[in-house]
Amino acid sequence: MNALIRNGLIVDGSGEPPYEGACLVEDGFIRALWHGRAPAAVEKGNNAEVIDAAGRVVCPGFIDMHRHCDTAALREDFGLIELSQGITSCFAGNCGMAPVPNVSAFRQSLENYLEPCLGSFKNETFSTHREYLKRLEAAQPPVNMGFFAGMGAIRIAVKGFDPSPFAASEMDAAHGLLRDALDCGAYGMSIGLMYVPELYSGADEIAALASVMKGGGGILCAHMRWETERLEKAVQEVIHIAQKAEVPLEISHFKAAGATAWHDVLYRAIEIIEAERGRGADITVDFYPYDCGSSTMMQMLPPSYLAVGVEDAIEGLKKRENVEKMRKLLESGEPGWDNLSKTIGWDRTIISSVRRDENRKFLGKSVSACAKEYGFRDEAEMAAQLMYSEKGKVAIINQSMSPNDIDTIARLPYSSLISDSLYGDMNNPHPRLYGSFPRFLRDFARERGILDFAQAVRKMTSQPAQRVGLKDRGLLSPDYRADIIIFDPAAFRDNADYLTPAALASGLDCAIINGKTVYRNGRMLCRNAGVLRR
Ligand SMILES: [Zn+2]
Repeated sequence: MNALIRNGLIVDGSGEPPYEGACLVEDGFIRALWHGRAPAAVEKGNNAEVIDAAGRVVCPGFIDMHRHCDTAALREDFGLIELSQGITSCFAGNCGMAPVPNVSAFRQSLENYLEPCLGSFKNETFSTHREYLKRLEAAQPPVNMGFFAGMGAIRIAVKGFDPSPFAASEMDAAHGLLRDALDCGAYGMSIGLMYVPELYSGADEIAALASVMKGGGGILCAHMRWETERLEKAVQEVIHIAQKAEVPLEISHFKAAGATAWHDVLYRAIEIIEAERGRGADITVDFYPYDCGSSTMMQMLPPSYLAVGVEDAIEGLKKRENVEKMRKLLESGEPGWDNLSKTIGWDRTIISSVRRDENRKFLGKSVSACAKEYGFRDEAEMAAQLMYSEKGKVAIINQSMSPNDIDTIARLPYSSLISDSLYGDMNNPHPRLYGSFPRFLRDFARERGILDFAQAVRKMTSQPAQRVGLKDRGLLSPDYRADIIIFDPAAFRDNADYLTPAALASGLDCAIINGKTVYRNGRMLCRNAGVLRR
């Protein structure tokens, strides 16, 4: 398809000032751009489509390098949530979580671990990256899909939830699995050090695995071990890992969670990052534009309580003595563990997803409020009973961040916007799933002026593209792939909030992927995307 987009306000993704101009698309690529009108020969040429973009912004399609859509992208109904936000490329395999590698001995444990974030993949049969990608290609996802290898999945494939460090032969096996993913085109490896089983891995073990990527083999995306008062230590740890492994570092969903860490702790963490950047270290960060986080309640349980194995630990919560054991561990804390029941608090922990009807009454309420309202002895008992009843699959939203801190992170020249969208089977998802990208433009650029429009677009386009190593997307520039969105900047907006999170974004006129119009005014027209491989 050839198309001439005329009279638009070109925001090319580089951060340079917008200009009125025209853009010619040919055979899936951007051929040329002009300030003002295209030359007469082009205007009169044989363009299959002429798009009049007067009063509209024309910019590269947005790139979300942090979505948990690994298995969601296989579903028929995937795509509208993403395209309505202007997202044309997504990256899966984040926070250490990926549906592959997947070995039969640990298949059920892996699925239980992933389900709150990725959703179910019960009827899928893939076990390797090769098989997963074959399945993904067959599904023809409506947006481009890249992926990272997940260290959590690799660790589970090697040794389940066993807390002991890798033996030499296990490290060899893990190396092989990571190499496999990279050979299939993974853009790097993610880690999720707040989750079992990865929280059992020390820095040196992670660095030894990540060093497979040394010499340009991909980036390390790190969900850090702590995001509250110990944020500085967590930042130092992932920097140490990346430097030891000699790989670029992307700090995932960078933030200071819990009021005691706001401002000071965050600023000191930024100082650590900038000192290392000043010495030439390749470190960048990303963030989502909301002041509440989202996770699974599993993350709030003490690691030593879970050490008997996640399923047994959850099953054990039906016994009073085990609840008592958990309560004591929550009271005392554990060395090296971020006890969110204290650093964020049960009163700021909102139950956002359950599966059983009898637990729906808890949705949208804090654990503290539920404990009081429904006559539990205390929050620990409420959480324990809910976890037991739901077999551990409870999603939570925590009111954990300072809006000022997020503005500070948004202004960092080396930060990218992400969504960190979860695709668990949730009755009440985090609104970032439906709204992150238009929200950032609306709230941070247009309404509050935290940064200018072109810079905001850069953080959603060329910045993430360069970070992951996508060489032909993220800019409106000749010979780049024609992934383009067109919208009225005053009308394009998010509609999702914490009370009505499942509301699609509105106001996007059209999305073009690989040169073809795939979305127009709220409707998907066709599929023209593909799997991205490094
Ligand atoms: Zn994460």
